[in-house]
Amino acid sequence: MIVAKYGGTAITPNNLHLIKNTLGSHHGAVVVSAIGKQYDGDTKVTDLLKALHTRLPDVSLFEKIAYKYRSLVSQNHITIDINGILQNTISDIVYKNYYENTLSKGEELSAKVVSAFLGWKYVGAEEIITFGKRLLTEETYRKISLIGERFVTGGFYGARADGRRVLFPRGGSDITGALVASALNATLYENWTDVNGLCVADPVKVSNAQTVRCLSYDNMRLLSQCGASVLHPDSVLPVARAGIPINIRNFFNLQDAGTIVCNDSVAGKVIGVTSKRNGNLFETTVVFTLSSSLIAVKVFDALEHCGISCLKFCGGHNFLKVTTEQYVLPVVYDAVTAQI
Ligand code: ASP
Repeated sequence: MIVAKYGGTAITPNNLHLIKNTLGSHHGAVVVSAIGKQYDGDTKVTDLLKALHTRLPDVSLFEKIAYKYRSLVSQNHITIDINGILQNTISDIVYKNYYENTLSKGEELSAKVVSAFLGWKYVGAEEIITFGKRLLTEETYRKISLIGERFVTGGFYGARADGRRVLFPRGGSDITGALVASALNATLYENWTDVNGLCVADPVKVSNAQTVRCLSYDNMRLLSQCGASVLHPDSVLPVARAGIPINIRNFFNLQDAGTIVCNDSVAGKVIGVTSKRNGNLFETTVVFTLSSSLIAVKVFDALEHCGISCLKFCGGHNFLKVTTEQYVLPVVYDAVTAQI
């Protein structure tokens, strides 16, 4: 069972329909962020809520947020009483008037809309993500495991036993996704964003920076602590403990397998090597547990060593396929099963 988390750019009027392309029968739970930037220079809903909070009881800024959610609903033809929900939201913000409650409303609204869009059950994060002085992990896992599959919840916040809401740090919907994945003992934690995965360097600064195909939990945590913003560093530990791989993927580019974050020892275990004739050519496929760049390196080195050129190659997070004029199965087999 897969848990999928969607960042704020997916939860926008123009992009929401794309999330349906990413979901299949194996998906059991969805975690969403507040609406993100819709264009360059736009302001994220969470930042609008932050500004709104400083101006309370002036609620005029809420209209901007309401407009975004109304567009999300109308553009995607979702059947939900969004005006009623927005009315209750602003009344609750004004009545309770505390920072964490106000900021949590973006994720709460997104989850309500996305659950109606998918026809999945809505679960308020305040009912499952439980805090005492800090996050109560066992209690949180217990509550999540009782829900059953196919539900949508908001990231970034939870609540104490008295109902008072508590926030994770900014970007914290990734943490909620990781907790849900661990609680449900998912086979994969998909983290859907608007870039192909973790880049070797910041793609804004280095335009041709390559995507890292596979790395360990430790290295992912280190890189995100040091500024790689694609994944929140605190989201790594819950899934690492449970040995659940994270797959960071681009909802704009389903062709790309993205980045896999997993236990080093799990990556790159070869499951099978096959060969198929295709006209005059041979397609040799290696299937492995999870991507490891080492496998591709070994295959290409071995082919080069034998003077065989690879006419075409393609790969995903669990396979690599090379097309050659010669029959190369034994060469590829030896290469991928050899010890380093
Ligand atoms: N909406 C929150 C933020 O902008 C949390 C998240 O998106 O993960 O930081």
